[in-house]
Amino acid sequence: MDNPPLVLLVEDEPPMRRFLRAALTGHGFRLIESETGGDALVQAATRSPDVILLDLGLPDIDGLEVTRRLREWSKTPIVVLSARGQEQDKVDALDAGADDYLTKPFGVPELLARLRVALRHTQQLAGENEPVFTVGELRMDLARRQVFVQDREIHLTPTEYKMLALLARNAGKLITQRQLLLEVWGPGNTTQVQYLRVYMGQLRRKIEPDPTRPQYLLTEPGVGYRLRVP
Ligand code: CA
Repeated sequence: MDNPPLVLLVEDEPPMRRFLRAALTGHGFRLIESETGGDALVQAATRSPDVILLDLGLPDIDGLEVTRRLREWSKTPIVVLSARGQEQDKVDALDAGADDYLTKPFGVPELLARLRVALRHTQQLAGENEPVFTVGELRMDLARRQVFVQDREIHLTPTEYKMLALLARNAGKLITQRQLLLEVWGPGNTTQVQYLRVYMGQLRRKIEPDPTRPQYLLTEPGVGYRLRVP
């Protein structure tokens, strides 16, 4: 890499920090380390990292609050690190603007995959917004509002299209149930989780080769959905 991405790692546990430091520097990332939420906010503002890896359980300001404060002024992608049993914290962090999460313990390939997706979104924000999205046999032309499977055009209802387009514009990124409900159905409907099940089922029947084993529209149980990246 010519200009290796700069990662701000916010983690108070030394063994976890050692593991992440080895994994990240070993794969060519540059690294800033922070042990507290307060320091993380300062580092984020002064060093302009490309991506932030943020532990939710910090000794001073918790990761959820750090996410909220960062999102007041920063679009830098945030991947939160959560422990098992912190399911609600994880969802709250995503709703507050975090881009993705990793549940401890996780492996290096999973870490690198999440970072790649997060960084891809930074590049898209900075540069050209690719209007055509392709994964496998699925192709979406977001400018023309057309969806194709194996070059056959698929007719979607306006609601189905809105859901799929939101996931495609954020391809690879986890979109929470609340975010989908808010964007597609509006602020009065953010708890109507059954809408998602119904419409996701319809969409899968239209675009998935085998709707019972989805390969494009992936469910993160209890959290949300993501569209697989190519
Ligand atoms: Ca911690």
